Amino acid sequence: MSWKWQKRGSLNVLTLPKWEAEGIDLGFSTRVGGVSQVPYDSLNLGLHVGDDATAVLENRQRWLDQAEVPWSRVVVGEQVHGTKVLWVGEEDGGRGIRALETAIPAVDGLLTRSTVGLMAFFADCVPLFFYFPDIKAVGIAHAGWKGTAHKIGQGVLECLEQAGGRPENAWVAIGPSIGPCCYLVDENVAAQFRANFSQTPFLAKQEDGHYLLNLWEANRMTLLEKGVRQENIDVVEACTAHNPEWFFSHRRDGVRTGRMTAWINRRSTRLDARGMSGTR
Ligand SMILES: [Zn+2]
Repeated sequence: MSWKWQKRGSLNVLTLPKWEAEGIDLGFSTRVGGVSQVPYDSLNLGLHVGDDATAVLENRQRWLDQAEVPWSRVVVGEQVHGTKVLWVGEEDGGRGIRALETAIPAVDGLLTRSTVGLMAFFADCVPLFFYFPDIKAVGIAHAGWKGTAHKIGQGVLECLEQAGGRPENAWVAIGPSIGPCCYLVDENVAAQFRANFSQTPFLAKQEDGHYLLNLWEANRMTLLEKGVRQENIDVVEACTAHNPEWFFSHRRDGVRTGRMTAWINRRSTRLDARGMSGTR
């Protein structure tokens, strides 16, 4: 297992040391260490789930403190279970971090060649983290069953190609989400996967006609299909529904629950940061 829990200040952060060594800060949060009250206890980072906004902003402050990134250098998209992917840059810094209204509208994948941090929010959906060494870019995508069925991971890789990079050089990490142990879906959902995949080994039919769906494997297959190398895909294999002490889960807890964040930030050196502030 190449993933590691890191204690950073009061928070626990799931990270990939291999990415860190490349100057990429990749993190996934837990529900522990925040100020939100039941049922959002306690590190709820989602502003859209009915929690007290003051508590959410304090929780976001704690996250940004451990990441050592200011509010003005974070970009958040409005996630809509779609497949739209967008490039963002320095000029988008601050969008969506303090208020839903300023988020990049209707986008489930964000990419950047800048050193702004990208933040997306999750309860059971799959976070996909991207690092493209050949064009020095990073990205994040929100892949629930809809995004997975419609291959949002390939959408991200198409943006990479348009920017002159190659999927063979891409690194991808598949973070915690509801796992194949817990994710029961019905025939309608299964049918959408069959419509988009030539093979569906990630659907396990149950006696009652439902299916256990392995979103990690479905996403891994879409990445391999587009040319990502097997050895460049890390799958954390942690189930959000299975670990109530660590994770919120929409399937387990219902609508009124919190959100973890998936975070990625291509680090600037201190010298870079000074140079950039000088040119503004
Ligand atoms: Zn599970």
